[in-house]
Amino acid sequence: MHELAITQSMLDLVLEQAEKAGAREVGKINLVIGEMTGVVGDCVQFYFNFLSKGSIAEGAALSFKVIPTMARCRGCDKTFELKEFDWACPYCQGNSMEIIGGKELFVESIEVE
Ligand SMILES: [Zn+2]
Repeated sequence: MHELAITQSMLDLVLEQAEKAGAREVGKINLVIGEMTGVVGDCVQFYFNFLSKGSIAEGAALSFKVIPTMARCRGCDKTFELKEFDWACPYCQGNSMEIIGGKELFVESIEVE
């Protein structure tokens, strides 16, 4: 259940940004979540509703952009989306690869009023 801590730090960041912008209300929060982080949007939404009560972010809409797990093959240097349990390059069938995407977790932007 690391979503609680993640949501708390996300909310802190959003409130800090909103305050800097002199906002009265946060309308929308755009989040980027990499598939590999295992973070579940529904959980974040649940904690957000709870944690944001009484703040200017209460009632804000959360938007999640999920980034698939991407890998680069060390054998043929091609990049591809890594499917679960499929640790082989679809081009050369090699299984030496590095993860280049899917670990993202950040607030992309917020919309305030
Ligand atoms: Zn390959």
